Amino acid sequence: MDYIIFDLEWNQCPDERDTKDPHLPFEIVEIGAVKLNKDREVASEFHRMIKPEVYHWINSRTREIIRLDYQSLRQKGVPFPQAARDFFAWCGDDARFCTWGDQDLLELQRNLKYYDLESLLPGPLKYYNVQKLFSIYYEDGRSRRSLEYAVDLLGLAKTEGFHRALADAHYTAALFARIGEECIHKNFSIDAYQNPKNKREEIHIFYEDRVKFISREFASKEDAIADREVCSTACPRCHRPTRRKIRWFSVNARRYFSVSMCPEHGYVKGKVRMKKTDDGMFFVEKTTSLIDEEDAERILEKKELLCAKRRLHRRSMSERY
Ligand SMILES: [Zn+2]
Repeated sequence: MDYIIFDLEWNQCPDERDTKDPHLPFEIVEIGAVKLNKDREVASEFHRMIKPEVYHWINSRTREIIRLDYQSLRQKGVPFPQAARDFFAWCGDDARFCTWGDQDLLELQRNLKYYDLESLLPGPLKYYNVQKLFSIYYEDGRSRRSLEYAVDLLGLAKTEGFHRALADAHYTAALFARIGEECIHKNFSIDAYQNPKNKREEIHIFYEDRVKFISREFASKEDAIADREVCSTACPRCHRPTRRKIRWFSVNARRYFSVSMCPEHGYVKGKVRMKKTDDGMFFVEKTTSLIDEEDAERILEKKELLCAKRRLHRRSMSERY
């Protein structure tokens, strides 16, 4: 197995208020990647610049960040479909993808879909989010730092500027090589841009004290949250049913929480994140994890505060009309 650490640079519509093509908000203009062998040593590298086809000049913010100009992309770039085919041929058959954060994999799949090339990268995808792994291994597991911050913290040499695809891929690879093997394998991520379409394709991933579930798609959020599997919260350790302590409640349009109790292992937090597909359907990423009494109380406080706020809001609305 090889690890493919890749980084993309993309361009967006020159006028940000009016995204020209909703199917391609970000057009990839550069791919940089480093291949590491199973011992995480650099085996080879890949680089392509891509000729823009959708947005015909570089957004000023993009230019400022990545220092690529439209003319050199026109001259040195190849069409995206060719770059993508070259990239996957270089990756080989036994590749495991690694990226800094979760957006590169998303935009790669969006660009592939735009050109009808999704078959080059069938999903859902298991991958390693090096930004998350860095946080778990070196910090609190929750913070999400910039690549440069991580490079500075570990005192790695800064031989090239940031925000060019190949340089960022090398920095990410150097960080990835310094994270403990066990930490990596325990904390892989799943990208569900190509989400499960039916019950058979639904995903259950069992981590140590945590279970992740990715549902099939539903026509509405209400249908999704009413689904039996979506609202169930078995104990992530013994997988037996739990007794509900705090019913599912929403903290905003996309996130829901609940708290249950396993007689043997204590409090179980349910967290649902509602996801919308590019085609306007909904699916759910649910995580159930063991928490302590303090965490459970904090969730109860959050719920009570939200309920009070909503009551107040309803009252003020009814007084107004
Ligand atoms: Zn249990």
